[in-house]
Amino acid sequence: MTDRYAVIGNPISHSKSPLIHTLFAEQTRQDMSYETVEAPLDGFATTVRRLRDEGYKGCNVTVPFKFEAFKLCDRLGERARDAKAVNTLIFQDGQILGANTDGTGLLNDIEKNLGFTLMWKDALLLGAGGAASGVLWPLFNAGVGVDIANRNIEKARILAAEFTGSGTVYARRYEELAGRKYDLVINATSSSLSDELPPLPDGLFKPGALAYDMMYGRETPFMAYAREQGAALVADGLGMLVEQAAEAFYLWRNVRPDTQPVLEKLRS
Ligand code: NDP
Repeated sequence: MTDRYAVIGNPISHSKSPLIHTLFAEQTRQDMSYETVEAPLDGFATTVRRLRDEGYKGCNVTVPFKFEAFKLCDRLGERARDAKAVNTLIFQDGQILGANTDGTGLLNDIEKNLGFTLMWKDALLLGAGGAASGVLWPLFNAGVGVDIANRNIEKARILAAEFTGSGTVYARRYEELAGRKYDLVINATSSSLSDELPPLPDGLFKPGALAYDMMYGRETPFMAYAREQGAALVADGLGMLVEQAAEAFYLWRNVRPDTQPVLEKLRS
């Protein structure tokens, strides 16, 4: 019988995940289906339990349910525990297991696909929402020094405080960024969705710097700003999307798909 999977979000019709997982399944000859499921904003838990009870094998979780998914799980992987957010669910023996593959997705895209070495680099992470918290520990564990900037500075401070005792992550207001320079600037805000640019100063990029916008699908104001400011490499988040999907696919199927042909197909 064909194994069923889905991505749950609200809204969800724009999602590229069904296409990505269908391509992975074809490539690795897995008998599975993958669909989008829109959960009502107040009906995430009910939707997850329904899918589990109908025999689905797992789900991806996207905006705005990643924090709620974290609370719903019976067991959690380390990355999900660190992030306090879950983007991958596995239904096993009636239990709901939770993982977070966003951090691995970002790191694989940056190091493997873009050829940018992370160890000992200085990074500025813009945003303190679900996406930022999902990638913060993996960046830190890769030897990256991280500053977090967010409009709501309290949210950035809460994330930074988790590192007390392990190392230093600084929370900074946007106004404090003038004069600072980074090897890597990651836009993990949702500003690009509304074609806005966070209030960034001139001169943020060191020579050889990578500017990475987690948004994908179009040139964003952040990407345009980075090109204008002389960032050596400018990337969107499509590679992260494909890489985090590959990691989820591996957790479900125990098979690692080749991401390159899928990324090329999506780009074309
Ligand atoms: P959240 O809603 O959890 O967080 C939004 C963040 O963006 C907050 O920190 C908010 O700041 C900040 N923000 C929103 N608008 C602006 C603005 N105009 N200027 C400055 N900051 C702003 O969203 P997520 O963290 O879940 O998602 C963020 C982005 O990352 C989305 O675009 C999403 O599509 C993308 N993403 C991409 C992935 C991929 O695989 N490529 C994976 C996951 C996410 P404040 O707290 O001050 O309101």
